[in-house]
Amino acid sequence: MEQRFKSLSLFEFREKFPDADSCLSYLAKLKWGNGFTCKKCGHGNSCRGMSPHSRQCTSCNYTESPTANTLFHKVKFDLLKAFYIVYFVSTNKKEITSTELSRKLSLRQKTCWAFKRKVMKAMKSSGNHPINGDAEVDEAVFGGQEEGVRGRKNKNKKLVAVGIEKKKKGISRLYAKVIPDAGSVSLGGFMKHHIGPSANVKTDLWTGYKPLEKDFENLVRVPSGKKGRNFPEMHRAIMNLKGWLRGVHHHV
Ligand SMILES: [Zn+2]
Repeated sequence: MEQRFKSLSLFEFREKFPDADSCLSYLAKLKWGNGFTCKKCGHGNSCRGMSPHSRQCTSCNYTESPTANTLFHKVKFDLLKAFYIVYFVSTNKKEITSTELSRKLSLRQKTCWAFKRKVMKAMKSSGNHPINGDAEVDEAVFGGQEEGVRGRKNKNKKLVAVGIEKKKKGISRLYAKVIPDAGSVSLGGFMKHHIGPSANVKTDLWTGYKPLEKDFENLVRVPSGKKGRNFPEMHRAIMNLKGWLRGVHHHV
């Protein structure tokens, strides 16, 4: 989220977030934009909860607020001001002090100090530091001798989404996650978590990536070529991962 704010000017930020309700609506969209899954029972359907923008599971009635399990969980001050802290902390080139934040937002300095620390910690964890340069995404079947068919489920095989960050001629970061299928929702969830919206993303021509062109403005889809010829680093990364896994788990 901090990355998404980086491209906004203060003026645009003000327009996008005029009040706390717009912040809640933004968090709800971020959380459930690709569908709802109940944290308690895994059910996939929800209705409106009692509090604004919350969702209630239609199976077990568990209610989740848009702020639950986010940076804004149990924040005791105005959510809009918390959003401003995230904005100022993530956009200022020079580190903004809690005294400055306190003055700008009419909040207690201690409050600003504590929340700023939380924001900075979140920015440091890799999940919140998405790839913004050159990225490649592919998915591969693990746990079988032969290559599986995309989108088809097999109990012993696992479909794994792999994302790499390329720097010069090597790979600087690699993310991998087991995904339920190769549809655009599963792939998109993985990609949005690890890759920034304006990164140069390269994928093959698999249709699951097509709808994601609207989320990643610089996404290009190219033929993978014979034996992944157009994706040499990715091809090698997947081979290495498979080799490593075979060594660790003999049954894979
Ligand atoms: Zn439920």
